[in-house]
Amino acid sequence: MEFERHSQESTFHSPLAEFEEVTETVEVRVDPLTGRTGRVADGAFLAPDEYDIDAVVSDSEGCFFCPDSVEAATPTYPDWMEMDRGRRGEATSFPNLNPYGSHSNVVALTETHYQPLDAFTTEQFADGFGAALEFVHAALEHDGDAAHASVNMNFLKSAGSSLVHPHLQTLVDDRGTTRQRRLLDAGRRYREREGADYWADLVEAERNGDRWIASTGAVDWLAAFAPKHHRHVLGVVEETGIPDAEGPAVDALAEGLTGVLASYAAAGHNAFNVALHLTEGERPVVHVIARAVFDEYYWSDSPFFTVLHDEGVVETPPEQYAADAREQF
Ligand SMILES: [Zn+2]
Repeated sequence: MEFERHSQESTFHSPLAEFEEVTETVEVRVDPLTGRTGRVADGAFLAPDEYDIDAVVSDSEGCFFCPDSVEAATPTYPDWMEMDRGRRGEATSFPNLNPYGSHSNVVALTETHYQPLDAFTTEQFADGFGAALEFVHAALEHDGDAAHASVNMNFLKSAGSSLVHPHLQTLVDDRGTTRQRRLLDAGRRYREREGADYWADLVEAERNGDRWIASTGAVDWLAAFAPKHHRHVLGVVEETGIPDAEGPAVDALAEGLTGVLASYAAAGHNAFNVALHLTEGERPVVHVIARAVFDEYYWSDSPFFTVLHDEGVVETPPEQYAADAREQF
């Protein structure tokens, strides 16, 4: 497996060094599967020295996902789900009132309206993923055309969430997303060329190396070589196919995700995104990224590079944040 990286140097006379000539270095990395590039550059992430979001996150007035209003304010499932809403531990699942495709649900993950990244528990995520996967399996069984699914999360406004209350969002349809298709196509080309599964090969190539984080049993965790976004972590499920809602992958995903989020919290982050890619016959992979630190005047971390060039530009190298995350496992 090729881990291709290139150094680019940029020279100018700096006002910060009495206009002496200085040279800054940017590293360009190539994703081994897709060829997508990501850049590691100083100054690509700005975080406030301190922030106070209590006033924003503590007001649960009118929240649809808090336990006292979830039953009245959220939709109930169509008949084929054979339940009105799903319930597992603190998690409650129901259809998305604003669906993104044929089958789209929401899992209110916690009974608490807000909790910081290092307060999420393995049990909360295991119940949440279990509720999401229960819906995924039922939707795939109900709809013969559906073949792709994802379980996703935005946490706080700087990560794209309109609501403070922690929740997962599931999408099941016949085509998946652009990124799912690109990864699947690249994975199939790799299999034809190498006669092996890319993700299994990646785990073996990275195991115990600089970007290795840990194994939580059924899931292996590592930092992406060419990060798509800040602190991009991959969790590779060992078994192919869509995990059983009661199976070992659910606990292993939950345990690893809480570890990754604890490392984000330790690095000063308070917002994140998750996408668990699911396609029948393929190995599930969860992608986790840290987002701009949410505060009153937060700086968007989705500039032209992200939204128009699909180019990852990050400050912290994968080898560094892998070491940070390892401490939380
Ligand atoms: Zn709430």
